[in-house]
Amino acid sequence: MSKQTFVVDNVRRDFPVLNQLVYGKPLAYLDNAATTQKPQIVIDALINFYQNDNANVHRGVHALSERADAAYEAARLKIKEFIGAKSTEEIIFTRGATEAINLVAYSFGEAFIHEGDEIIISAMEHHANIVPWQLLCKRKSATLIVTPINDKGELDLAVFKQQLSARTKLVCITQMSNTLGTINPAEEVIALSHLKNIPVLIDAAQSLPHLPIDVYTLDCDFLVASGHKIYGPTGIGFLYGKKKWLEAMPPYQSGGAMISQVSFETTDFTHLPYKFEAGTPAIADAIALGAALDYLNRYVRHDLVMHEQALLHYAEEKMRAINGLRIIGEARNKGSIISFVLDKVHPHDIATILDRAGVAIRAGHHCTMPLMRQFNVPATARASMSFYNTFSEIDQLIAALIEAKELFHDA
Ligand code: PMP
Repeated sequence: MSKQTFVVDNVRRDFPVLNQLVYGKPLAYLDNAATTQKPQIVIDALINFYQNDNANVHRGVHALSERADAAYEAARLKIKEFIGAKSTEEIIFTRGATEAINLVAYSFGEAFIHEGDEIIISAMEHHANIVPWQLLCKRKSATLIVTPINDKGELDLAVFKQQLSARTKLVCITQMSNTLGTINPAEEVIALSHLKNIPVLIDAAQSLPHLPIDVYTLDCDFLVASGHKIYGPTGIGFLYGKKKWLEAMPPYQSGGAMISQVSFETTDFTHLPYKFEAGTPAIADAIALGAALDYLNRYVRHDLVMHEQALLHYAEEKMRAINGLRIIGEARNKGSIISFVLDKVHPHDIATILDRAGVAIRAGHHCTMPLMRQFNVPATARASMSFYNTFSEIDQLIAALIEAKELFHDA
């Protein structure tokens, strides 16, 4: 299919929510790392399902059920193709990245983690990629090892290499930090781990919306992502897992749809991917996630990335010119996320003042409390850009920041 030329003004017309005033000012939505806005095609997919096709999947023979089934499985195929997996059996629908990580922590953990084993994560992980491993380590008397990062927010690969040992049973690393924007060298982490036959889980919650990913080339063993961060609905995401692992792992949740035979004494489980999809799934949301990927596929991904990178560099340059503003996270390889603090102004006050200027950013610990400790800040303000953002929205952000600074510094 031929691709459309990327023109930001045209793209913005596809996202109805962007076209509104907040406190009388044009909305500048710069909170994309928390969740992205939805193109009309995604909204239409949700409406169309409930208006025309609503039925449960996998169990019916009637027309609506067959339609729902076909659309649900078509969405799985779209994800498979979007990330370059070998088979739809390797794509498990989950509620999001968090549930996908928990699935691996419980199921892989049950089968493959034992007393004395080690699991490696990095210092920049989201709580979703910390807490499930911490709990697993507690259950199994295993140890959680943390790879440090430098002051720029880059992974210390030399230490990582030394941490890999015969005790290491899994490495779980984010491909892009939701707080710092750092893009980690996932290929190198995976290659180094595989030299010692250690499987790797990649948290792609932030990277998938910004980087083209091919799991076959990347060779990761697991990859998790959330639909709502890639222009799809909330409540849907997926786990990619190599078939050899998924087949060797026990079910995570149990109930309907994941069985082949049940008696009161015992149960046989069904094949992949359904073995890991107990109960009625988020059918409309899965279909609408497929529509979000269709939307992205209209464009050359590289064009979207280049626009986001241009916004990032433009914003960083303007921010560096503001006295008393410190950017937290200055990795060489960064996605379009900027965390920052401003002298004498609490990040929550920055976010509130910016909101009155129509600029939506986030303030807080961003579910990365250990990272806040490393940078010695209680919280940061965070602006995160998508391909539908514009340079004039960055100007709006900068003007509001200068206003916030003057308000507090003159007080
Ligand atoms: N990992 C990263 C890097 C994230 O940014 C997030 C969401 N902020 C998650 C995992 C968890 O995603 P969700 O809440 O959609 O399950």
